[in-house]
Amino acid sequence: MELKKIANLLELPIDKVQKQLDMLIDNPEPIHNGMSTFPPHFLIEYKEGDTRHNYTYTDFLYENVDLCMGRLDAPSDIICNLTLRCVTSCIYCYADRKNNMDKQMPIELIEKILDEAKEIGVVHFKLMGGEVLLYKGWERIVEKMVGYGYQPDISTKYPMTEEQLNNWKKMRATKSPIQISLDTLIKEHLYEILRVKDPYYDAIINTFNLMEKLEINYVVHTVISNRNDLVEDIKSLYNFFKGKKHLLNWMFDPAKCSMYNGLEYKAYKTNRTALENINKYIDQINQEKSFDFTLKKPQLMLDFNLVPKEERIRKFPNRRMCSGNLNAMYILPDGQVTICEELYWHPRFLLGDLKKQTIMEVWNSQKAKDLFYLQQNTIQKSSPCATCEDFAECRKYKHICWRETILAYGKDKWDYPDILCPKAPLINKDIVI
Ligand code: SF4
Ligand code: SF4
Repeated sequence: MELKKIANLLELPIDKVQKQLDMLIDNPEPIHNGMSTFPPHFLIEYKEGDTRHNYTYTDFLYENVDLCMGRLDAPSDIICNLTLRCVTSCIYCYADRKNNMDKQMPIELIEKILDEAKEIGVVHFKLMGGEVLLYKGWERIVEKMVGYGYQPDISTKYPMTEEQLNNWKKMRATKSPIQISLDTLIKEHLYEILRVKDPYYDAIINTFNLMEKLEINYVVHTVISNRNDLVEDIKSLYNFFKGKKHLLNWMFDPAKCSMYNGLEYKAYKTNRTALENINKYIDQINQEKSFDFTLKKPQLMLDFNLVPKEERIRKFPNRRMCSGNLNAMYILPDGQVTICEELYWHPRFLLGDLKKQTIMEVWNSQKAKDLFYLQQNTIQKSSPCATCEDFAECRKYKHICWRETILAYGKDKWDYPDILCPKAPLINKDIVI
């Protein structure tokens, strides 16, 4: 009866609600699901004789709790990049790979980092590359992570073999779905995007078929560039994924402008008309209800120079919060720490080095605090932030997207405004986000 009410309220099938609830009843370990984390024993099955508490909201009223947001005392989220090596060389790659391909995290270092992460209570610890599966010893790391209650949550383009998938499953690293990127199943388009050769196409198809056979859940990420922005490209994927049982989600994003790949954005970016056509096709797929989930359409790209001031004034205070250095840290393959993956080795954001320091030493270092509590008198004079009367409020905890600021204005202008800020200067290059 209650199940039916929940299903009606959420407009979901009853069996899906049942499946979600079953996971949360007497769960022995925390469950991480997207942005949400559920603690162990989230719901407890009632047994005859158990005491029933009837809570009301007044039981949870407190007078002296400070609910202002602030920087955490220790990071809750860590992403660790093991290697920048890949099996593909995607035209839209945003990684700073040049001169960094040989940097590999020593296995003893990642083990030491994991030990400390567990000890200080890091909630999410994810692995990243490059290609995690090209890191020699990934099995040892994944096993240790799972033992500590972390799911590696990798994103890969590596065509995994049956043995590797079985390993992954045996290690219980498949509680979170594996994310695989696949941009099209028109072979020539795929090869042009990834710059790969035979037998990649057959091998990656085989990986999906194996995941179905081995009952491993996965999600797919499709990046749209000018090489796969025809409806035919999306159709080629739809025809393949339709009816797949272990596909949990399929996400789309337009290829972003890269700071590092050496190509001009116009060499690979898609356009608004192409995205609108794809979006109409995605609407059609959603109407057919071929999947248990609703496909989210890729966002139409936006030229920030054209956003009217009134819209900026309205939207800027509601911008998303930057998690870097607030609760999250990013570890580079050489052990150096930065605040966000796409800043890589930008010197202003390097907070320390885990080859010589502990996580807590880096998190509590003067450099990390100086960056978080940035002083207005240290901002370069040409930046509107240097004289902005809203500086204190703006930089209190929400901060700005440093990545986008650097992308728009250049590496040396890292202390310029967020690109959505009403005071942001015009952007003189083609970035379109
Ligand atoms: S980003 Fe905008 S609001 Fe924030 S300090 Fe800079 S100029 Fe002021
Ligand atoms: S710099 Fe931008 S992309 Fe990076 S964590 Fe902050 S908001 Fe996210």
